[in-house]
Amino acid sequence: MKKIAVITSGGDAPGMNACIRAVVITAWQEGIEVIGFRHGFRGIVEDLSQPLHPDDMRLVSQRGGTFLKSARYPEFREKATAQKAAEQLDKHDISALVVIGGDGSFRGASHLAQHWQGQIIGIPGTIDNDLAGTDITIGFATAVDTAMEAIDKVRETAEAMARVFIIEVMGRHAGFIGLHSAIASAAEAMILPEMDPQPKLPELADNILQAREAFPDSSYVVVLSENLWPGGVHALADSLSKATGVTCHPCPLGHIQRGGRPNAQDRILSMQLGQAAVHAILDGASGVMIGLENERVVEVPLALTYDRDKPLDPRLVNLQLGLQGVNFASKSDRETA
Ligand code: ATP
Repeated sequence: MKKIAVITSGGDAPGMNACIRAVVITAWQEGIEVIGFRHGFRGIVEDLSQPLHPDDMRLVSQRGGTFLKSARYPEFREKATAQKAAEQLDKHDISALVVIGGDGSFRGASHLAQHWQGQIIGIPGTIDNDLAGTDITIGFATAVDTAMEAIDKVRETAEAMARVFIIEVMGRHAGFIGLHSAIASAAEAMILPEMDPQPKLPELADNILQAREAFPDSSYVVVLSENLWPGGVHALADSLSKATGVTCHPCPLGHIQRGGRPNAQDRILSMQLGQAAVHAILDGASGVMIGLENERVVEVPLALTYDRDKPLDPRLVNLQLGLQGVNFASKSDRETA
């Protein structure tokens, strides 16, 4: 084994730094040198390399983002760009590349594997939790905490003013952040990409009106996944305001969901997966993601992480569907009884 390279790629996620730390320390304990390329695949192509030493890793795990920086780099889909990356990796005498990122990054890793002979190991790092083959991805737990705390804050002002809020959360095309933050913040409604059938405007409006009737002096919070409602959260709030006659306030949470110090769960997960990635390299693995299933570290072929859908846990969906709206329904029932 000559040298390991690490990149963080795609959307940054809290915990990526802790993961880099685990890779660097584990590799050095095995006598293997580690370098990082800044800005993901672009950094490999443009040779933005830096040595990574355990001494420099002492204070990184607490920090959000990624000190190695990340990038969206669509040029990496081109054959010539991947070939250039392969040349750079060979120039640096790299035997194995660790890619910390989401499904796009793993597609990029698979693309690179067609042009480079070294070992490639993926570590799931995305707040969206949308990679199959792992129960959880680095950054997801912190993003849910962040969304919940933000919704709690909106809830306080909403409650004071008896307002309706439509809160848009991230997730790309998956409803994990939406579902978990809706449960944790006791939202009155949720709209997620996986819901079939999708809630329709009249039904949503009707629920708001029922809640208003039962609790005229209370708040009402809808959690909406991004990239779902045509025109986004502003269009939905507009349509609901018109349909109900009640002003519905749009509130996109935006990029605050990516930031912040990783929570304990993310730090632990990151370090577990980072250490396991180096062990997998030493065992000769390549073309796999190191994930966590039922609390055990697993190796999953990269293509199986992005070619398969990852369903929401139906028990959690039912939990939220069972709890949301029950309060006002039961109060109306009591009064009409
Ligand atoms: P997140 O979902 O958290 O944003 P991600 O890893 O899915 O993370 P993307 O921007 O989709 O983020 O992908 C990261 C990078 O991977 C891209 O900018 C590009 O450099 C590379 N990549 C994505 N798809 C491909 C592909 N089909 N072929 C080659 N490279 C790709």
